[in-house]
Amino acid sequence: MNLDALLEELVTANRILATEGVVDSFGHISVRHPENPQQFLLSRARAPDCIEVEDMMTFALDGTPLDAGDRKPYLERFIHGGIYEVRPDAMSVVHNHSPSVIPFGITGKKLRPLLHMCASIGHEVGTWDSQDKFGDTALLIENVEMGRDLARFIGPQRTALLRGHGAVVIGASIRHAVFTSIYLEVNAKLQMQAMAMGDIKFLSPGEVDTIIARTGPYTLNRAWENWCRRADRPMGPGAES
Ligand code: MN
Repeated sequence: MNLDALLEELVTANRILATEGVVDSFGHISVRHPENPQQFLLSRARAPDCIEVEDMMTFALDGTPLDAGDRKPYLERFIHGGIYEVRPDAMSVVHNHSPSVIPFGITGKKLRPLLHMCASIGHEVGTWDSQDKFGDTALLIENVEMGRDLARFIGPQRTALLRGHGAVVIGASIRHAVFTSIYLEVNAKLQMQAMAMGDIKFLSPGEVDTIIARTGPYTLNRAWENWCRRADRPMGPGAES
C-alpha cells in the first residue's frame, strides 16, 4: 500500500474505532512509516472521529514531530514510538480508554480470551502500572522514559492494560490492530457478564494458538468491510494480512 492509501487507511481506522466505541474524544492509532521504519504516522491531537488526512503527522521513534508546522501532537505519542523501537513486528499501535477493559486494570482480575473471535488479544492481558516506577503522575505516558518502560513491560505480547487509564494494542497492520482493539473490548464486556454468572471456561492455550494461526486476511478484511460501512468510509485497497 502506498503512502497516500495508507494515510486514508489510518483515517478510516480512527473513524472505525470511534464508531465501534473503542475510542471517544481520546485515544489514537498510529502506523509505522511504510518507507522508513524509524518513523511513524499519527494524527495531530484531535478526537478520532474528526480526523482527516491533513491531520496526519510524521514522528521519529523518540516522539519528535518531524513535520508539525503549527499542529499540536498528542501528549501520549511516546506509547507508539516506544513500541516501534523494540518490536520490529509492530506495524500499527492503538491506545484507547476502552470502557470495559478498565475494571480489569484496577482489580487484578486477569483479562483472558473466552470467545473464539477474541483469541487475537493473546493468552493473557497484563497490566502496566505507572505508579510502580514513576509514582504519582497524571497516569499519562507523556515522555519517552514512560513509553519505553511500557514497551519493555509488554515484551512480545499483543495487548496490555494501563492501570486506571486504558489499553494498548499492537498489530501487524492497521486492520489487525483495529480488529484486536474491538475484540479486546468485546471480550472484556463478556468476561464481566460471565464472571457475574459463575466460573468461566476460557479458551485453552492450544485453542488460542490455533485461532491466531488462522486469523488472516479473510477474517480481517471481512470485518473491515463491515466496519467501513458502519463508519461511512470506503474500504480502500489494502488486503494485507
Ligand atoms: Mn490515554
